[in-house]
Amino acid sequence: MKDVKAYGAYSAEKALEPLNIDRREPGADDVEIKILYCGVCHSDIHTARNEWGGTIYPVVPGHEIVGKVTRVGDQVTNFKVGDTVGVGCFVDSCGHCDSCKDDQEQYCENGHTQTYNSESQDKKTITQGGYASHIVVKQSFVLSVSDKLPLEKVAPLLCAGITTYSPLKHWNVKKGDKLAVLGLGGLGHMAVKLAASMGAEVTVLSRSKSKEKDATALGAHHFELTTEKENMTRLANSFDFIIDTVSAAHDYNDYLALLKNNGVMILLGVPPTPSEVQAFHLIFGRRSLVGSLVGGIKETQEMLDYCAEHNITSDVEMINIDQINEAYERTMAGDVHYRFVIDMASLS
Ligand code: NAP
Ligand code: ZN
Repeated sequence: MKDVKAYGAYSAEKALEPLNIDRREPGADDVEIKILYCGVCHSDIHTARNEWGGTIYPVVPGHEIVGKVTRVGDQVTNFKVGDTVGVGCFVDSCGHCDSCKDDQEQYCENGHTQTYNSESQDKKTITQGGYASHIVVKQSFVLSVSDKLPLEKVAPLLCAGITTYSPLKHWNVKKGDKLAVLGLGGLGHMAVKLAASMGAEVTVLSRSKSKEKDATALGAHHFELTTEKENMTRLANSFDFIIDTVSAAHDYNDYLALLKNNGVMILLGVPPTPSEVQAFHLIFGRRSLVGSLVGGIKETQEMLDYCAEHNITSDVEMINIDQINEAYERTMAGDVHYRFVIDMASLS
């Protein structure tokens, strides 16, 4: 497909603007999707602005994609034209390493192909993401989406949803566990909803007093301002888990101290600069500092089905594609309630 309409950045310093990209013609195993909605993840901003290094321009971000199937290849058995589908953070992997065989394609030992700014498995092309009218994806990396839920609110589940669901399942968060969510943004608000649905007692740790009411509405049981020193002292040794979704540099030591014995702090946020960890905070209390990357395709489908069953979606603010730069600025300022989603009809 030539001249597919899209929106992207030509450099780290430039605003996003309209551009055209090429997509491959659907091969035997491919699904062509007309994109209806695409969520705006903070990773899109880190990448468009080259905050992690390694961005290849022009880049079209977007990895929270929901749309309708418009064409399928000869060998596609799982999908047909008209189906509602989703695409998340990656679109291919080697398929034969231990991680891939274990349904953990995100940890592919030969390098998974991310939805944008990533080398395809053929090592020839660089992927472009969901701020576009269409995308072509191998069927085994396409998710089935229930029409039961509002699709614009489902889109953020493809990244923010699975990224928070996967560690909750992996670390077996259960009823009665005391869990804190650090940072109430896109990932944070999904962590609150999902952890509360699994029975955890959820505390939001936030810099933003204005988010207190929302935290309760999202299902949190407690809200604590991290900017108040007394709060941080009072909360020492309080939590079994901390889910850290903060996108900017912050001091992990301040939060490790809030874990109980054997507590686990799970890093999801990827600040552009490294952080120093004081070993004492891990040794005392035998605490763990761990990380987690999105989730495999099988688990993403499980999460989508879980959300459909439990009526869990993202709280979204809809935008047109020409508002994307403003949405980036507002996300950077923490002013997002709680995910911007682009109505892709505004692209045509
Ligand atoms: P977001 O919507 O911008 O939310 C981040 C939240 O962090 C903000 O709302 C704010 O919450 C808090 N925050 C921001 N700057 C801060 C600062 N300087 N100090 C303290 N708190 C701050 O971002 P997101 O889309 O949820 O993504 C969060 C991070 O996760 C990003 O780094 C993203 O790249 C990463 N990510 C990781 C994965 C993974 O697989 N691990 C997947 C997707 C995204 P308060 O106002 O409540 O303080
Ligand atoms: Zn994301």
